[in-house]
Amino acid sequence: MAQRAFPRPTGFSRARFVRTRCVSRPFSTVLDVPIHPSAHHTPPPAPSSSPFHDALQANTPRNNWTREEISDIYHSPLIELTYASATVHRRFHNPAAIQMCTLMNIKTGGCSEDCSYCAQSSRYDTGLKATKMVDVESVLEAARVAKENGSSRFCMGAAWRDMRGRKTNLKNVKAMVEGVRALGMEACVTLGMIDAAQARELKDAGLTAYNHNLDTSREHYPSVISTRTYDERLATIKNVREAGINVCTGGILGLGEKSKDHVGLIHTVATMPSHPESFPVNALVPIKGTPLGESKAISFDAILRTIATARLVLPATIIRLAAGRHTMREEKQIMCFQAGANAVFTGEKMLTTACNGWEEDKEMFGKWGLRPMETKETIGGQQEIAETANFDTVAEVPSSVQASAPVI
Ligand code: SF4
Repeated sequence: MAQRAFPRPTGFSRARFVRTRCVSRPFSTVLDVPIHPSAHHTPPPAPSSSPFHDALQANTPRNNWTREEISDIYHSPLIELTYASATVHRRFHNPAAIQMCTLMNIKTGGCSEDCSYCAQSSRYDTGLKATKMVDVESVLEAARVAKENGSSRFCMGAAWRDMRGRKTNLKNVKAMVEGVRALGMEACVTLGMIDAAQARELKDAGLTAYNHNLDTSREHYPSVISTRTYDERLATIKNVREAGINVCTGGILGLGEKSKDHVGLIHTVATMPSHPESFPVNALVPIKGTPLGESKAISFDAILRTIATARLVLPATIIRLAAGRHTMREEKQIMCFQAGANAVFTGEKMLTTACNGWEEDKEMFGKWGLRPMETKETIGGQQEIAETANFDTVAEVPSSVQASAPVI
């Protein structure tokens, strides 16, 4: 027989038991205690010298973080961590504005690399068919559709190891970048490794950002990919940064790593000469046929912790809730936005994985008081305003020009 949640005390008739429970419960909870204002718990402030406190007080980004400091922040009680990250988020960004980006695969599959999570590697049998590069006009048509649906950034990905010997491909990519920029959208590409000259060519074509993820920490990286090194990835990021293109680099959670690897990844980007403009946080979508195809999903608290820590340590950066978002319920996505994520991929597909659709996102945004970020509010948009008006830094752009732009 199933046990009653609140057993009837000995000597109580059924009627007396019911009556008693209606008037005063035979068990004690906090609700039985009169609520007094002083009874509300105010969390004690973190010690004034703690990394957590320093991050919470920050008015400008800093890039001299130690791994220990970031680890302290990452391992703070989650309820305090997300409260702090939400506070810093509001200081640097408009919390209602979420950048909507659409990512299109302009060259699918057939990649020679061995990234153990990727459907596009030619080393794994994932059932994906390699295709030729999409023509420029089809890409621009897709960008127009994305813009009509509220996306302000259009990202184009090609499954290449690098751009060596790809002169014609680079020419076509530049035409795509120019076309996307002419639509008034930000343009981002991810083409594998590029050298300094290729980065400059892309900058001249008007490229807003270049994505090249570090994926994970330096220590865990060799167990994920063997065909290029962490340092090669960092070299591409350096070429991009030095060409004056915004860097988009982040990670994938759920690659069999530990929390110290989340800390390690954040530490690497937080100590770059300047913080990346964009830090994508992906949750692995296991693809059958890849070495990580049977991986267990990463826990949500680890995703939230990573976002909140990144927000505190990279306060001005756009934090992009990327692959795996479609597996999250709406409430979880909102917790990520509260904790500091402020960009999403939206559209029909995200490279080879599913993506939340525009209609679904519009409904969610409407319900929660969110709205698509305008180009003038993004870091790329701010830089353009600064360049056009001849300001030396984004910070010098008057707030009247910035509209509801981030306070950087
Ligand atoms: S992640 Fe990129 S580089 Fe790695 S296998 Fe996939 S397409 Fe190639």
